Amino acid sequence: MATCEAYATAIRGTSLADRRGMDPDSIVDVAIIGGGPAGLSAALLLGRCRRRVVVFDGGHHRNDESGAVHGFLTRDGVPPAALREIARNELRRYGAVHVEDRRVTDLARDRDGFVVTPDGGDHVRARRVLLATGLVDVHPPIAGAEALHGRLVLPCPYCDAWEKRDLPLAVYSHADDRGARYALLLAQWSSDLVFYPGRPAELSSEVREVLAARSITVDERPVERVDEAGGALELTLADGARR
Ligand SMILES: Cc1cc2nc3c(=O)[nH]c(=O)nc-3n(C[C@H](O)[C@H](O)[C@H](O)COP(=O)(O)OP(=O)(O)OC[C@H]3O[C@@H](n4cnc5c(N)ncnc54)[C@H](O)[C@@H]3O)c2cc1C
Repeated sequence: MATCEAYATAIRGTSLADRRGMDPDSIVDVAIIGGGPAGLSAALLLGRCRRRVVVFDGGHHRNDESGAVHGFLTRDGVPPAALREIARNELRRYGAVHVEDRRVTDLARDRDGFVVTPDGGDHVRARRVLLATGLVDVHPPIAGAEALHGRLVLPCPYCDAWEKRDLPLAVYSHADDRGARYALLLAQWSSDLVFYPGRPAELSSEVREVLAARSITVDERPVERVDEAGGALELTLADGARR
């Protein structure tokens, strides 16, 4: 702890460049904001191109709640944090690539490029900035959905549907043909499907026929809440019914 405090005192008021043993007036080639797979991939290529790079990782990643990454060649089934750790280890081969576990709070232009300021207040100057901040999921307006995101409420069938194959699946989506087509997409993983549009659906007769042919039920009752029950998802509908 004493060492950490001494370090914190020593670095106060200095720029990241100082701490990296760089000339404080120096400038890195690229500051990458985002330490997920996108930002780390960019850092790898830039490092191999002999660029001086700083990657900022704000600490939260879109798939943090997921148990494993799927569909990524050679890393199928690896936990997301382990994937990032492997990537960071690879970056260590390239001396001019550094990763900072800090969130960027300010980005400003200066004469040669940009001044990037992370939390903590010091800064790095960069000729270019690469934004790799990822996406933010918008959760459905259903109580409990956010808490189960990534485990039982899954936004990406290509990422996780194989693990749920042949199980009963609830598809919550748009109350029109787009939502119904999404339910039809899911039919390749399970034949036990219920489509919940959350309100009376406006479906074309053609799409209704295809749903019926696939035995996909459309349950138009609003979904009030979702809970975990015995490792599966339990839906509570507006009339109190549970599924
Ligand atoms: C539940 C779930 C499961 C998924 N499963 C898979 C899967 O199996 N296979 C697959 O290929 N994809 C999967 N995905 C999609 C997956 O999230 C992306 O493939 C991957 O995370 C995208 O990487 P990214 O670098 O674009 O974004 P992220 O991994 O989200 O990384 C964004 C980065 O930006 C940083 N950041 C944001 N703002 C700032 C800031 N101001 N300062 C500093 N840093 C900042 C974050 O901290 C983070 O480091 C899944 C998504 C979800 C939600």
